[in-house]
Amino acid sequence: MDFDFKAICEFNDYFKDEKTCYEFLENQRWSGSPVCPHCGSMKAPYKVKARGKFQDIPSYRCSERACDLPFTVRTNSIYEGSKVELRKWFQAVYEINISKKGISSVELATRIGVSQKTAWFINHRLRAMLTETNPELLTGMVEVDETYIGGKEKNKSKKVRAANIEKIKELHPNRKPHANALDTKTPVLGILQRDGLIRVTPMVAPSKEILLDQINKNISPDATVVTDGLQAYRNISKTHKEHVFVNHNNDEWVKGQFHTNNIEGFWSILKRGIIGTFHVVSPQHLHRYCDEFAYRYNNRQQSLTGKFEESLKQFDSVRLTYRELTPDQREPHRKARYNKTK
Ligand SMILES: [Zn+2]
Repeated sequence: MDFDFKAICEFNDYFKDEKTCYEFLENQRWSGSPVCPHCGSMKAPYKVKARGKFQDIPSYRCSERACDLPFTVRTNSIYEGSKVELRKWFQAVYEINISKKGISSVELATRIGVSQKTAWFINHRLRAMLTETNPELLTGMVEVDETYIGGKEKNKSKKVRAANIEKIKELHPNRKPHANALDTKTPVLGILQRDGLIRVTPMVAPSKEILLDQINKNISPDATVVTDGLQAYRNISKTHKEHVFVNHNNDEWVKGQFHTNNIEGFWSILKRGIIGTFHVVSPQHLHRYCDEFAYRYNNRQQSLTGKFEESLKQFDSVRLTYRELTPDQREPHRKARYNKTK
């Protein structure tokens, strides 16, 4: 690549207009010769002359008779169906890469000049793009640890708290709910290879089966696994070469070279990021925030330009629609509007 950005102004100078961005993306995706995203045909497509404000955008139509569909480099990618200019998307990718603790939608909105809602959507689509595809098994010394992320009941509004108590009463009519029983904290499992990659997975519930399943899926059998003294980890030595546990309850944090300090360092970055930047993260979107922070951690040694290129590589066929992001919010809203007009 013929650029090396050291600051945002250099970045903006390089990607000065839509045409440059499209050509850059075409090079990344097709190495210059367009492939139809609908049918995969490599036959040279027809060039279509677009009009008005789209006239600079390279547009094509598939030259296969059976297909004959129009496309641009955006088709079938995270950028599809978005009215936001590619330049702004690139800028958002850049911003998400240079920030240490992520960037909130409110801040992104003012930086790239879109509405907060659009910025929120862009942010989530980018997170989907940053998700690791085809993950390999972690090996060597691997630290495993779990944490809890999410809202405390006492911080919620009176109305929400009252509704939650009602729900619990319905479920258990004879029991007085414990003060912490209503906290909507989500357990999150982290698996980190010493001097290597991290995987972060939110869990539906802190169950032994899910823990062990994730450990088997992510850690090679010849690895040395370091955990805390949690009962659920007891059987790891049966499936993996070595299992060392550091018993935090007995004030034991380091056993020679064995400790879980690296993963605990990651938790503090993640939690500070979530509290400081995003303030509130709903459980249904937590996995995307985890992916974003894991991505940043895994690429921490890359140069700025390297990070930007790396994150742009995965734009292909990742699609996330607004409806997929807001499944339960959208429908009642629509219904209300429908009833009003009736
Ligand atoms: Zn085609």
